[in-house]
Amino acid sequence: MALIVQKYGGTSVGNTGRIKNVAARVAGYYAKGDKLVVVVSAMSGVTDNLLKLAKEIMPLPNERELDVLLATGEQTTIALTAIALHALGIPAVSLTGAQAGIVTDGVHTKAKIKNITPKKIHELLTQGNVVIVAGFQGQTIEGQVTTLGRGGSDLTAIALAAALRAELCQIYTDVDGVYTADPRIVPGARKLEEISYDEMLELASLGAKVMQSRSVEFAKKFGVVFEVRSSLNDNPGTIVKEETKNMESIVVRGVSVDKNQAKVTLVSVPDKPGIAARIFKAIGDASINVDMIVQNISHSTGVPATDLSFTVDKPDLLKAQKVIDGLKPQIGFGQVIATDNIAKLSIVGVGMKSHTGVAGKLFETLAREGINIEMISTSEIKVSVVIDLAKAEMAMKAVHAAFIG
Ligand code: ASP
Ligand code: MG
Repeated sequence: MALIVQKYGGTSVGNTGRIKNVAARVAGYYAKGDKLVVVVSAMSGVTDNLLKLAKEIMPLPNERELDVLLATGEQTTIALTAIALHALGIPAVSLTGAQAGIVTDGVHTKAKIKNITPKKIHELLTQGNVVIVAGFQGQTIEGQVTTLGRGGSDLTAIALAAALRAELCQIYTDVDGVYTADPRIVPGARKLEEISYDEMLELASLGAKVMQSRSVEFAKKFGVVFEVRSSLNDNPGTIVKEETKNMESIVVRGVSVDKNQAKVTLVSVPDKPGIAARIFKAIGDASINVDMIVQNISHSTGVPATDLSFTVDKPDLLKAQKVIDGLKPQIGFGQVIATDNIAKLSIVGVGMKSHTGVAGKLFETLAREGINIEMISTSEIKVSVVIDLAKAEMAMKAVHAAFIG
């Protein structure tokens, strides 16, 4: 008998058939005597559709009202899930984020959880109920409805698991777990039995959108061990937990490709203090996220100058170009080259800390495929390269074969 937090994503509750399927799974655990807290997302497509409706009325809707609107998605699913459990004869009560005691700050559409007082949840569990909690939402101390950012139901589940000291936290989704690469691109990709928080974070931020990154950060901070698994079968999933010594025996845990990046290069930037600061201050002020930055001094010209390249999210490329064009007269650099025909390929693994030659092997593999490397960046557990978008999938297959087999 255990206290279990389960989270079901949008596709897992995408229609009433799927919701009944969730109820049946919950019923199985309930029959064993487990105490269950079930967090659900909005039915798939619902959140996007609500956003679309608001934007049909005006392009930048008020964020407080957006939160009131978006929270209805999850409110629909909690009630339907409770009803589906009632249909199976199981006592279940649905709670909104506020009713569940989830208190957030007041930053609408991306609020942070400040604390959770799960008194009501405990009460209902003690009375023998399954408790269904709306993911993605909370309430400020003043009683304003808030949401936790896209994909925020993951965060609700992890935070509840921490607050309730749950024995088990299961994140149910439409894939069997975390893979060594996207199985749609790399047929030989394998499901991982376990992965460390840091590896999971790198893979999530690299475009392997299994879970909301913030929720993984939260899990790491509070030591919440969780499992990512499918709601469509009974296969065991991937356990996400603190790094263990034996995880280091594997050099590369996963390969990912991010096709949502674009690259800007400034040629012949004057090499003096304060220039990079001015460029990236302006980019930051325009709320543009920068990922990789590469700069090197050119020694070939008389005046010291550097070429400076950086990457941004694809949708921000035009905005970035505009900012850079605006700086050109004051700073005085040469040509500006912008392209969105790039992809970022990364290999991730905690084993890199104790193995040498990893970057060399990656570059060699790409060279063998005739793939040019445009940018390189590394961290303790990751090597990323920017390459031609058209060659991204080919590169991913070759790199996966070289490191993972
Ligand atoms: N329904 C919200 C979204 O689509 C939250 C979630 O699914 O986790 O982003
Ligand atoms: Mg989701």
